[in-house]
Formats: sequence, structure tokens, C-alpha cells
Amino acid sequence: MRTANRLPRVAVIGAGIAGLACARLLAAHRHAVTIFDKGRAPGGRISSRRENGIFFDHGAQYFTARHRRFCRIVERWRSDGLVARWGGRIVVIGDSGAMAICSSDERWVPMPSTSALARKLADGLPLVLGRRLTGAERRGDGWWLFFACGERAGPYDTLLLTLPAPQAVPLLGASPDLAARAAQAKMQPCWAVLIAPERPLALPFHGAFVLNGPLSWICRNSSKPGRGQAEALVLHASAEWSNAHLEDEPATVAVMLARSMAAITGADLGDPLVLSAHRWRYARAEVPLKEPWLYDAELCIGAAGDWCLGGRIEDAFLSGEGLAARVLGVQLASPLEPLPAEK
Ligand SMILES: Cc1cc2nc3c(=O)[nH]c(=O)nc-3n(C[C@H](O)[C@H](O)[C@H](O)COP(=O)(O)OP(=O)(O)OC[C@H]3O[C@@H](n4cnc5c(N)ncnc54)[C@H](O)[C@@H]3O)c2cc1C
Repeated sequence: MRTANRLPRVAVIGAGIAGLACARLLAAHRHAVTIFDKGRAPGGRISSRRENGIFFDHGAQYFTARHRRFCRIVERWRSDGLVARWGGRIVVIGDSGAMAICSSDERWVPMPSTSALARKLADGLPLVLGRRLTGAERRGDGWWLFFACGERAGPYDTLLLTLPAPQAVPLLGASPDLAARAAQAKMQPCWAVLIAPERPLALPFHGAFVLNGPLSWICRNSSKPGRGQAEALVLHASAEWSNAHLEDEPATVAVMLARSMAAITGADLGDPLVLSAHRWRYARAEVPLKEPWLYDAELCIGAAGDWCLGGRIEDAFLSGEGLAARVLGVQLASPLEPLPAEK
């Protein structure tokens, strides 16, 4: 493939945080990047929804920053007003409902909703939505992409998949080695339930990790900065419960988890203004790969995502950016290596 007289063409599949971080770095280095996503908006698992006029972050809840490179990015986002600190009172609810204050980690939330950060990162990048990739073929002139809607696109010099591992594996067929490595990452589902109780609640926390029973997390979304005054709760079920109820009806799941929350906290939800459920089939990486990204330099195909490193927003960002750096041949400090001491 000749790229001497034109910009290298890269297709990034997935407009989650990994895909957006990857595409932004490539575009900044004069690569002609196009992002394709099956969804109706960028963000993937950083996603917000408005129901009955009330905002809910129903995917990722907040994020932390540990790696120095990501800390610097977050500081820039903070000064640009894209994220704010969430000083919520976070507890752990253990056996028999006993509560203990959780660590005082610095927790960040995108402003004014999680999906707003994705929209901002996608700003100015060519993004094609509503395109589910079903196959990719490398021909003499480069990669050709085939979508569920019947359309095709190409040729591209490089193909980068930033999808949850189980969705990336069947599309990595051209590189059995990458497919086999990606298949080692195991992901778990999560049912999320959104509730707007009839009246504001008097709970002694803003977020709670729940150690036993169907729930793993209770969040008063309205306690996050910029989310509005109306009481809005987001519940997450544990991976075990979500697996056991994976094919249940959303309405049934919503009622079961709302009851569980009321039983744990004693809250009276009344006749809720909003009560709905969303299933995340591939929510969190239970067994991450512990490789920052995957890349086959001969075929010019790669994969990235949170599942490479961990299962958090920071992991997704560093993995996506790291894959872009690999394509560019630029050296970045590996998120897996201890950082040198700050001067
Ligand atoms: C319920 C829940 C709670 C969470 N809570 C937190 C938290 O509090 N803190 C934290 O740090 N992290 C949290 N996470 C994890 C965090 O959301 C993820 O680590 C991160 O968003 C993953 O980003 P990604 O870009 O790797 O993948 P994704 O966000 O999943 O992006 C992948 C994209 O690929 C698209 N796609 C998939 N298949 C195809 C296809 N065939 N063709 C085209 N497009 C396709 C999808 O539509 C999606 O937009 C949570 C996740 C969930 C689900």
C-alpha cells in the first residue's frame, strides 16, 4: 500500500473512550481517521440518559486517575470545565446493612453528564454512527469494512478495533494470534436500574458499594455536580446476579432491584416517576489481559479497550492512546510499568 503522497488512512471501530483517545492522537499526527460505531451517539459505556426530564448516568459512574499521563489529561479536562470533582459521601454496605465510610479517593465526573465528555472528545473527528461492523477483509489495496446495514467502506491502511473483547474477537479473524489473545479477557454483564423516587430520600450516603445480595452499587446521581436537583438513583446489580438474570425482562429486573435497594436502605421509593432497567452485556473486565493493546504490524490491525489493562475509564483511555502511539511509532510511558519519580 502506498501512502507516500497521501495521509495514512485509519479506521477506528468503536467510539467509546478507547476509540476516541486513539483517534484523537492519530488525527493530531496527520492521520486520516474515521471512527465507526454501531450506536446512535459516541461514548459506549460512558453513557447518560434523560427520562421524564431527569438525568441518569447509567453506565460508568465516576472515574479516578492514577497514571501520571492520565492525571495530566484529567487536569486539562478540569481546567476546560469538562470534568468536576465529586465530593460525594461514599460508603460500603456490608453484612446486616452495616455501613462504613469508603476511601477518600479523588473521584471525577464528566460535566454535566458522562456522555458530554464523549461528545467533546469526538468533536471535529469524522464519526459515522449506526454502523455495526460485521466483517473486515484485507485486500491488495488495504482493509475493507462490511456493516450490518449492507454498506461497505474502504480501503484503509490500518484497522483498529476498540470494542469489548468478546465483540472484537470475531472481527480479528485475519490475525488468529490477536484473536486468541483477546479471547483471554473475560467480561461480566451488569444490569443498571434508574429510579426517580416520588419524593426526595433521606439517605446517609451519596454512593454505596454493596457487598452482599443482588446489588453492587447504589448511587444518588443527583448528588453529582451539574446533574440537577431532582432525586435520581442509579443501581447496579452484581455480576453474579446479572449473569443469573441476563435474559430477564427489563421491567421485572427494575422492580426486583428497586425492592432490594429499599430493603437494604429502608428507603420509601413511593410510586417512582422513573423506574427502568438497562442491560450492559459486557460491562466490566473480570479478567483483563494485562497487555496495554494488541497490534499486528504486518497486517496493520490492532485492538484496544479497558479489558486490555483493567476495566476502568482510565484503562480504556490509556489503552486506546497506547495503540495509537504504537501505530505512530511514538514512545509513551507504558501504563503497566512503574513511573519514574517526578522531578
Ligand atoms: C454499569 C457500568 C458501570 C461502570 N462504572 C465505572 C466507574 O464507575 N468507573 C470507571 O472508571 N469505569 C466504569 N465502568 C467501565 C467503563 O465504562 C469502561 O471501562 C469504559 O467506558 C470502556 O471504554 P471502551 O472504549 O474500552 O469500550 P466501550 O465504551 O464499550 O466502547 C466500545 C464501542 O464500540 C461500539 N461497538 C461494539 N461493537 C461494535 C461493532 N461491531 N461495530 C461498531 N461499533 C461497535 C459500541 O457501541 C461502543 O460505543 C463501568 C461500566 C459499566 C457498564
